[in-house]
Amino acid sequence: MAKEIKQFQTESKKLLNLMINSIYTNKEIFLRELISNASDAIDKYHLLSLTDDSLEKTNDYEIHLELDKKKRKLIISDNGIGMTHDELISNIGTIAKSGTLEFLKNQKDRDMKDADLIGQFGVGFYSAFMVAKKVQVITKSPFSDTAYRWVSAGEDEFTIEESKRTERGTEITLFFRKDEEDENYSDFLEDYKIQSLVKKYSDYVKYPITMDREKTTQRLDDEGNKIENEYDTEIENETLNQMVPIWKRNKTEVTDNELNDFYKAQYYDYNDPSFRIWTNVEGMITYKSIIFIPSKAPQNLYSDKYEKGLQLYAKDVFVMDKCKELVPDYLRFIKGLVVSPDLNLNISREILQKNRQLEKIQKNLEKKIVNELEKTLKNERETYVAFWKEFGVNIKYGIYENFGMNKDLLKDIILFQTVKEDSLVTLKEYVEKMPKDQKEIYFGSAPSKASLKASPQMDVLKKKDYDVLVLADDVDEFMISILAEYDSKKFKSINQGDLDIQDDSVKEEIKTLETENKDLLAAIKTALGSEVDEVKLSTRLTESPVCLVSGEGLSFEMEKVINQMPGDKDMKAKKILEINPQHDLFKAIERIYTNSPESIEDYANLLYNQALLIEGLAIKDPVEFSNKMVKILIKAANIGDTNGTDTKED
Ligand code: ADP
Repeated sequence: MAKEIKQFQTESKKLLNLMINSIYTNKEIFLRELISNASDAIDKYHLLSLTDDSLEKTNDYEIHLELDKKKRKLIISDNGIGMTHDELISNIGTIAKSGTLEFLKNQKDRDMKDADLIGQFGVGFYSAFMVAKKVQVITKSPFSDTAYRWVSAGEDEFTIEESKRTERGTEITLFFRKDEEDENYSDFLEDYKIQSLVKKYSDYVKYPITMDREKTTQRLDDEGNKIENEYDTEIENETLNQMVPIWKRNKTEVTDNELNDFYKAQYYDYNDPSFRIWTNVEGMITYKSIIFIPSKAPQNLYSDKYEKGLQLYAKDVFVMDKCKELVPDYLRFIKGLVVSPDLNLNISREILQKNRQLEKIQKNLEKKIVNELEKTLKNERETYVAFWKEFGVNIKYGIYENFGMNKDLLKDIILFQTVKEDSLVTLKEYVEKMPKDQKEIYFGSAPSKASLKASPQMDVLKKKDYDVLVLADDVDEFMISILAEYDSKKFKSINQGDLDIQDDSVKEEIKTLETENKDLLAAIKTALGSEVDEVKLSTRLTESPVCLVSGEGLSFEMEKVINQMPGDKDMKAKKILEINPQHDLFKAIERIYTNSPESIEDYANLLYNQALLIEGLAIKDPVEFSNKMVKILIKAANIGDTNGTDTKED
């Protein structure tokens, strides 16, 4: 047969073009694609040989790699099914995958870049042209007496001619491109590089992937001692892949230690994971998954650069390293893999369908993980608390995320510090310990438990012996506002609005006092101008002289967090200065106001700044504050300050 010159199909040309001009950074996946084709070809032969008596039955399968540095080539050969002349033309010269063309057409509308296309889907044989300037395929089918040689430089055409090959199978030779300024193809000629790519992408292919590797050993003398500077090199046919995937083994036979080692090697961690969750699911969708929770949060977990996701295997082929569709954002810290025979790295399986399956797996996994956390919280409190300290913020974020879609799932695995308890408590535990007359769940925002405990807003709660949740993380108040209630009990901030827990008689008394001191309160408000929105007598203070609270709605904490975010910065919480009418300080101010109303401004200022300080908020003018304080102290000590405004008292 003479050499035939054939044109690629139009669609194939498009795909080829995409590959040749690809700026895709992950060009190394060509090896995964070719190895997975080889593995498929062996599968096909094996299955056929079971029913076709004309085919030799064997278990001697192999995918062999051979590097030739001088000629800049890599040969990938297999003893699979091979191809006949016609198969060679229709399989390699045409896009067999019906969905591909459609996908390419839609690509423009979707605004999907080449890189995304290549990254997300198996692109098969053509990916060889990302790295090779010329590709040769020599193949022999057991159903054909003749072997064929196919060659193409990826442009418009390919050639086919007879070849001398006699064994069944396929041998693909890639002639690597010359290195360019920013592309180093010579890397693929290093056997350690090829070895690491096999490990990375094809470790779980079930046939041996072998390569001739040079082994250098020091020469030994007759007595078995090493001779200095004398070496022997031998060529060894080394198997590069592990072949038996850990998930293929019986779950009950794999020890925690083995799983830990697997985790550390696969996900580059030094520490053992704190959780190992192995799931086998069969039914509407079949998959296996092994999920790990690291014991320490990675440094970059909250940076933009962190990529969440699970490794995805379709059958035994590594399809994706970080399949983000499998992981809800708040669980971004989980590592692991999903293996599903229902997923295919073939484009023809519609993307939509694929996504729906992934979504289902994601939902299942999420429930499974939360379940496991719940169980641990119940049975191994210490382990859970350690987890909580690393990743609790994420769980809280999970409640807040997606408009509270997950709040019911997660509300029982959140932990809180409280003012009274030494260890962290769940909401259930808090509610169980509530005194009979307590109706709501109290919380206070503060940088720490100690500062909340010392805050004036705690006065009445201490008296009532109510416990208070300490909210110290930015996300806390947002999470609480989404939760709104737990076990039909509303959340109530101790730093906001009316507390309404004083006895009625006390409330009455304070109302009367407020009417009596209307002018004084108005004077303080005037003195403070727009600094505060309201000045009132407090029902929540019993020990402390003053405090600052926000109105209902936006709190100081939320104001702070929102204003740190980019964008709208004009959110202001309503500021209310509350004064304790029982405190001696108030009585002193009452007297001062009666005797010299004009000096009230300084006192109002002091009161307000003191409240700011207690609240952990910044004082506008610390120097002025200090000067006023000095002035008042001197006056109080009666060291005549004749220049002061308060001359009447002298
Ligand atoms: P696919 O996703 O179908 O594997 P490819 O472009 O990678 O797409 O390959 C196209 C077809 O070429 C395959 O379906 C197969 O029939 C054939 N083929 C590729 N590599 C080999 C091989 N090593 N041995 C036998 N047939 C092969």
